[in-house]
Amino acid sequence: MADYKELWKSLDIDLEKHDELCEVLPEFYGDIYMTQKNRPEGMNYYNFVVSEIHGFRIKELNEFRGKGGKVFGGFCVFVPDEVTLAAGGVGIGLCGGSDFWVPDGEKVLPRNMCPLIKASVGAKIGGTCPYFQSADMLVGETTCDGKKKAWEILGEYTPIHVMDLPQMKREKDIENFKDEINIFREKVESITGNKVTAENLKENIKLVNKKRKVLQRLYNARKVQNLPISGKDALLISQIAFYDDIERFIEKTNELCDELEARIEKNISVFDEDTPRILITGTPMAIPNWKMHHLIETSGGAVVCEETCTGTKYFERFVDEDNDDLDSQLKALSERYMGINCACFSPNEGRIKDIIRLYKEYNADGVVYNSLPFCHTYAVEYKKVKDALDKEGIPVMMIESDYSMQDAGQIKTRLEAFFEMLNMNKELAL
Ligand code: SF4
Ligand code: SF4
Repeated sequence: MADYKELWKSLDIDLEKHDELCEVLPEFYGDIYMTQKNRPEGMNYYNFVVSEIHGFRIKELNEFRGKGGKVFGGFCVFVPDEVTLAAGGVGIGLCGGSDFWVPDGEKVLPRNMCPLIKASVGAKIGGTCPYFQSADMLVGETTCDGKKKAWEILGEYTPIHVMDLPQMKREKDIENFKDEINIFREKVESITGNKVTAENLKENIKLVNKKRKVLQRLYNARKVQNLPISGKDALLISQIAFYDDIERFIEKTNELCDELEARIEKNISVFDEDTPRILITGTPMAIPNWKMHHLIETSGGAVVCEETCTGTKYFERFVDEDNDDLDSQLKALSERYMGINCACFSPNEGRIKDIIRLYKEYNADGVVYNSLPFCHTYAVEYKKVKDALDKEGIPVMMIESDYSMQDAGQIKTRLEAFFEMLNMNKELAL
């Protein structure tokens, strides 16, 4: 990575502490990613993005801000990027996916809460994440209790706008969320100084849909028997989608998909044909949380799909592009976003249907239900999901785990036993 010290200094980064983070990441990435065999050539772009994770993109954002542009940092897939872009702003995803930030988070939050929240708060108050430092405004949401209370604390350190997310999906809830998107629009307009017009909103609805389409194209390549890409690599691409320049991301991911489709034609696979295919469902995996995919793919399995916010929840379903007035566009945005089946909704039958549908679409052999500790919504929802999967005869195992690798050995043992059972199921079915 080039020398970005001056840039980081200008962003008020704690340089000494930040150096510690920069020291561990390349080795961590190397061990997890560069040890994979037969990766597609197109992954070089994403390797580059990670190697420059606190450099190149931060410099771009800094240049953008230097010209008067505003950056909005979000924590959830309910924040509508279309609106931010329509006001000439840039939205970036900020969820903390590293253990590194947890101790700073624990200085102001209880220890017994979700590590994603602790890491998100810790990254800001410790001054070690240049993305947090590049955001002119943070955007929180009232999804789970931990998050909505954490925003009150985060608000003492930096400006934050909180969107009120309804917890049910009735018509009036969709109307309410439409109002919330409208309030967000006003907020974004006041920060950027630019108006969101029906014209530029329409253009950006199309642009964000284009990003969703390319991610769907990537995921389609994982439905085939001979997998042209690992689950780990697909996860990395989804994670990068949250903060990369949108046009470049679409272009690079389309290029990669060309390569993957050519691989499919030539039957080039990164796994043996009989490797158990796993659908992962559960809490989001923010960069650099690659733990569960790494454990699965080094224990004899292959991840074929993620029913998570760093997976299908992020890109499935498009916003209707055919509206020409602001009011109908806001309604269309609300309808699309309220279609996301986060466990914070009650009831949340849609998620169960999604899991069963995706299991079939991706020809999975089993489901790993992954939850971060102290995430009550996802942990409680496990019972309903398991009951439904049992009825369908779909094997499922629950793994609750945080970001540390202390439990890696124990999880691998459980996964190996699960895969053995899946292999036996396949043999019996023959
Ligand atoms: S799991 Fe729910 S709260 Fe968390 S990012 Fe996804 S939609 Fe937002
Ligand atoms: S993982 Fe669960 S507890 Fe953590 S932020 Fe998401 S919904 Fe909240």
